[in-house]
Amino acid sequence: MQTAIRTPYLDPGLEPWPKESAPRRALFLDRDGVINVDHGYVHTAARTDWIPGIFELVAQAGAKGLLPVIVTNQAGIARGYYDEADFRRYTAWMHAEFRMRRSPLAATYFCPHHPIAGVGELRCECTCRKPQPGMLLAAAQRLDIDLAGSVMLGDKVSDMEAATRAGVATTLLVTAGNLEPVIDKFQAWGRQS
Ligand SMILES: [Mg+2]
Ligand SMILES: [Zn+2]
Repeated sequence: MQTAIRTPYLDPGLEPWPKESAPRRALFLDRDGVINVDHGYVHTAARTDWIPGIFELVAQAGAKGLLPVIVTNQAGIARGYYDEADFRRYTAWMHAEFRMRRSPLAATYFCPHHPIAGVGELRCECTCRKPQPGMLLAAAQRLDIDLAGSVMLGDKVSDMEAATRAGVATTLLVTAGNLEPVIDKFQAWGRQS
């Protein structure tokens, strides 16, 4: 059974990122409910409403030398609502929106599988669907990321669990689409390290 982790979308601006500080740290971000409002299976610009403060937070992460990396379960692909090509086109658009606002993302990892609702080969028990840590581990290997020194930002217990299983020490939970408390904690975290 093919359960290999999908090739991530890598931001066109990724390569010039400073490598001297490798191994680098990351700000891992869940997508729906953290970056965009979770309307359910969002995959078009028209359905995208940004979570207030997200561009500032990602810019702040970049300024701290953290690579902003999205890790997102995409059951919409598994269910056949949209395909991987649609998802990659949408992701390229999303990355461009962040670049335009001087808060570039580094990469987007996604899981197209679902254990029950998946169609065809996408119906499987994979190693990437959160709370499995596969996407974070793959990102760490490819982008030379120090997981213990990294931060996970998510809005579900499964995000926190994936991070913990991957060895990410700091997890920040976003509730009700309100980034404000998280931004405060993230600033404090930056001062400690
Ligand atoms: Mg979410
Ligand atoms: Zn998967």
